[in-house]
Parts: sequence; C-alpha cells; structure tokens
Amino acid sequence: MKELKDNFLRVIDYLRLSITDRCNLRCVYCMPPEGIVPSKHKEILTYEEIIRIVKIGAGLGVRKVRLTGGEPLTRKNITFLVSSIKKIRGIEDLSMTTNGVLLEKYARELSDAGLDRVNVSLDSYNPARYREITRGGSLDAVLRGIAAAEKAGLCPIKINMVPMRGINDDEVKDFARLTLNSDYQMRFIEFMPAGDNEYWSADRYISTEQLKAEIETIAPLTPVRVRKNGPSKYFRLDGAKGVVGFISAITHHFCEDCNRLRLTSDGKLRPCLFSETEIDLKTALRSGEPDSEIERLLRLAIQVKPEGHNIGNTIALKGPSALSTTRKRPMSKIGG
Ligand code: SAM
Repeated sequence: MKELKDNFLRVIDYLRLSITDRCNLRCVYCMPPEGIVPSKHKEILTYEEIIRIVKIGAGLGVRKVRLTGGEPLTRKNITFLVSSIKKIRGIEDLSMTTNGVLLEKYARELSDAGLDRVNVSLDSYNPARYREITRGGSLDAVLRGIAAAEKAGLCPIKINMVPMRGINDDEVKDFARLTLNSDYQMRFIEFMPAGDNEYWSADRYISTEQLKAEIETIAPLTPVRVRKNGPSKYFRLDGAKGVVGFISAITHHFCEDCNRLRLTSDGKLRPCLFSETEIDLKTALRSGEPDSEIERLLRLAIQVKPEGHNIGNTIALKGPSALSTTRKRPMSKIGG
C-alpha cells in the first residue's frame, strides 16, 4: 500500500474536507458577531471536484477523510458525497464533525451511505447558555441529534467541547462525568486564537493541565491508548465506560504526530491549520489539468508542510505559483 511521507517523515494519510463555509450557528469563538460573508456557490468546490481530489489522494496514500465546515449538514445532498467517498478504493475511515443541529434528520441516511462516525461539537448542557454561545442554537435539537447518531451506529460518538474561563468552565466536570456511564469520547479542545475573530483572550483560555487537574478532583485519570486517536491524548476516569481526551494545540503541540492536510471549501489545500500557506487546487481543477497535476499539487502541499506551527505568526513562503499566503481566515472557512 502506498504511503505518503513529508519532509519530517510523518505519514500523511488524513484529509479534512471543509465542504461549505456556511453554518447554521454563529458560535462566539468561531465567527465574528456579524457572521461571515459566505462564498458564492460557484466559488465552492463541487462534489465532483471533491471526489476527484479524494480519489487522487487515496491513490497517494490518504486513508482517512473527515467532512467538516462550516456546518457540513447544511450542504445539499450530503449523502451523495458520503456514499461516493466511501466507495473510493483505499478510504478506510470516513467521519464528520458537526454541530449536531441537523443530525436527527440525517443520522440514519448518513450511516446507510457509509459514514463511520461523527464528532459533535457541544459547549454547554445548559439550554440558555448553549443558545448564547452559539448565538441562537437549540440544545434540544443537538441532544436529539446525538441520540439519533447513536441509534444509527455512528459510533463511538465523540463530543468536542471548547472550555472557556467565565463562559462554560463550570461545566467541565459534568462533561467529564458523561463518560462514567456512556462510551462517549469526551474531548476538551484548548481554546485557540484561530481565525479572524477577536473573542479569544488569555483570560478565557484554559490549558489542558488546568482542565486535567479539575477533572481529577472527580477521580484519577489513567492514560489509555485509543485506536486512531489523532492529536487527542486520552485518559479514563477510574471505572468509566468512556474516555476523556485533550486536544492541546497550544500547550502541547501535536505537530510531530500531525498526519493531515486540510482542503478549504473554495479549493485551497492548507498543510497546517495555523499556517496561512495555501495551495490552489481549484484553478488547476477548473482549467482542465490532468490528474498528474493535481497529484503534483497534493505532493507540494505535503512538501511544504511545516515541522511545527507557530500560532499567530504568518509563514511567508515563496515558490510555485499555486502556493500563496493569505490573510487569516475564520475557522468556518478553513474547516476546524
Ligand atoms: N460546524 C461543525 C461543528 O460545529 O463541529 C464543524 C466546523 S467547527 C469550525 C469544527 C470544530 O472547531 C468545532 O468543534 C469547534 O468547537 C472548533 N473550533 C472552532 N473555533 C475554535 C477555536 N477558536 N478554538 C478551539 N476550537 C475551535
């Protein structure tokens, strides 16, 4: 089987596809209050274009694909994309990151189409607070979505929470306790100063060490190995069915294990979330370039993948014309 390695001998086998920059929520830490100007329909890659990229990627060694956004479930005919990607030879794992609002409606058909798992982003179990953080979202809809996903076998369910001091940090232990009686993978994501918005502040940021200390007041946390665990480091509370994970982009760079490329909804490959370097695939796709050129651009993205990130710093690279650096984009544009 083919394997794609970057300059630092990391095997790159994971492609995260942002399939839309539109979202049905306006989370305070992700989007500015006024929202973002969504890309025009024709600027967004078509499903056929996305499928072509995944096929070429799979031929090079991509094995895992995640659909994200924006909110992936807001894009029409999503099950067509899921079933088409699932049929691609070499793709072993197909998952989705969603806010869960539309999951109740789609869980069964997504599962039938071949989606393996979902990660659901959920930052509060308090309906009023959830509405505030998401600027209008319904917690009830998300909880029904999670239940439907479980029923449809989109497991293990991963819940992503971004703890923020003074906003939802008083719920961290309750979220961790969810793992005592369910097999959820409860992941705490360090609040990142990502994208364009100005919501991030050092005061709101809570480090993984602080989160762990808080959770360990429930019971000791024992490290566990979880298959395909990516950047999360997982632990189990004594006697718990599920596990607690930490994604520590800021305090513990997981760059040495980074196995991913990101594709933005408008067709730019981003070798690193925190680097503003992008490689333009869309122009090549739309000017009739053969697969060999798309393959060259995928390889180029891997070649320029930085050894580590430097949040907030702009990396200026010179080189082939498909390569550019852009102004910071909000997470909804890149795909978190
Ligand atoms: N709409 C989908 C969702 O809500 O899961 C997918 C896109 S969203 C950008 C993907 C993930 O990025 C979510 O789990 C969200 O919590 C996370 N995220 C967005 N901005 C973040 C930030 N500044 N720091 C940490 N995580 C962030």
